[in-house]
Amino acid sequence: MSDCIFCKIINREIESKIIYEDDYVVAFPDINPQAPVHLLIVPKAHIDSPLDIDERNKELVGHVYVIAKKLAKQYEIDSKGYRIVSNCGDDGGQTVHHIHFHLLGGRFMTWPPG
Ligand code: IMP
Repeated sequence: MSDCIFCKIINREIESKIIYEDDYVVAFPDINPQAPVHLLIVPKAHIDSPLDIDERNKELVGHVYVIAKKLAKQYEIDSKGYRIVSNCGDDGGQTVHHIHFHLLGGRFMTWPPG
C-alpha cells in the first residue's frame, strides 16, 4: 500500500536497519523500543491486522514464530525467555495497520499488559 509506513520500509523507501529478510518477512528494530531487545517481524504482504489471517495466509504466522526463535537465539534472549505480541485494532493497541509481530526480550515481562 502506497501510504503504509511498513510497506515503505519493506520497499526501501524509508530507511530502517533491516536485520533479517526472506521471501515472506522482514525484521527491523522498533523505533521506540520497550525492552532491551525489541524487534518487529513484518510480513512483506500488506495484511492489515490479525483479523485478516485466514486459510490462505495462516502458514505465515507459523513462519513468523520460526523466525522469532531464530532472532531470539541471535540476540541471546532465548535462554531467559521472550514475548511475541501482535496488537489488533484500536483496543488491542495497534497503531500501524500492517500486520506485525513484536519480539521483546532482555528484561522480565509483567502480566497483564497495560
Ligand atoms: P503497534 O502499536 O502494535 O501497531 O506497533 C507499531 C510499532 O511500530 C510501534 O511499536 C512503533 O514504535 C513502531 N514503529 C513505527 N514507525 C516505525 C518505523 O519507522 N521504524 C520502526 N518502528 C516503527
